[in-house]
Amino acid sequence: MTARLIDGVKLAAVIREEVAQRAAVLTAHGVRPGLAVIVVGSDPASQVYVRNKVAACEKAGLHSVLEAYPASMTQDELLNRVKALNAEPTIHGILVQLPLPAHIDAHLVIETIAAAKDVDGFHVSNAGLLMTGKPLFRPCTPYGVMKMLESEHVEIRGAVAVIIGASNIVGKPMAMLLQSAGATVTICNSKTRDLAWHTRHADIVVVATGKPRMVDGSMIKPGAVVIDVGINRLPDGKLCGDVDFDSAKEVASAITPVPGGVGPMTIAMLLVNTIEAAERALASK
Ligand code: NAD
Repeated sequence: MTARLIDGVKLAAVIREEVAQRAAVLTAHGVRPGLAVIVVGSDPASQVYVRNKVAACEKAGLHSVLEAYPASMTQDELLNRVKALNAEPTIHGILVQLPLPAHIDAHLVIETIAAAKDVDGFHVSNAGLLMTGKPLFRPCTPYGVMKMLESEHVEIRGAVAVIIGASNIVGKPMAMLLQSAGATVTICNSKTRDLAWHTRHADIVVVATGKPRMVDGSMIKPGAVVIDVGINRLPDGKLCGDVDFDSAKEVASAITPVPGGVGPMTIAMLLVNTIEAAERALASK
């Protein structure tokens, strides 16, 4: 079997077009959706991510502000910037790119972002709303994965879903969204015994570990849908996912590539969340 490719670039383009239309409507009503992106330090991957996010905003007609600070920025300085943006009416979404330098408490920074502007969906009140089935913002990467499954007409209700990776930004919210959609969900982590036993029972496998090609075709149930969230830079400079694409595609029914899978969807869903925040701001005017 050779799996169907789930094309994140193509789907993200459709979503970004819908975002552009919603942004135009909001702007016509006097509310131009605005996103502020803060990056601290010079981590090369973070620099690429924030530039891509801001460029995507501009292309879709959103207002965006990129604030780049040196790694020497103090925690208080960063918290004060976040508080100023919380009070800024032209900004509807605030994103602080992670990781932050070690002297800054990322948890405290996220909790300082106004929950109504937390377009990453990482604030504890947004995590709680997601857990109780009433999300205000769905974290962008799992939200993008749900859109991919939806566009592929994957049957989620009643499906067995195995998520490998239990981070707050991918694995745990992914589990909540799949569970809300009716899947029976297992979350595996680095301590899981016999990982392959779990994955071989899964109709849907989502891998988000940061371990290059750790899931191969022998671990996949024939016909399963495989979503690869991982982005790993190999020594030769090429990108690869957490799934061994070549062997997995021979067993799966559908699979996401890396690059060109989940990555573009994450950015598209950040725009969607910013639009949702701006629409709420307009509704409360
Ligand atoms: P993280 O390091 O915060 O969490 C990794 C998780 O994987 C942990 O729960 C850990 O227990 C688990 N894990 C590690 N090794 C394992 C193993 N051998 N078996 C089972 N579980 C194992 O990572 P994260 O922030 O969730 O990111 C994971 C990957 O996804 C990274 O490659 C990251 O770059 C990528 N990512 C991609 C996007 C995107 O838009 N495509 C967004 C976020 C993260």
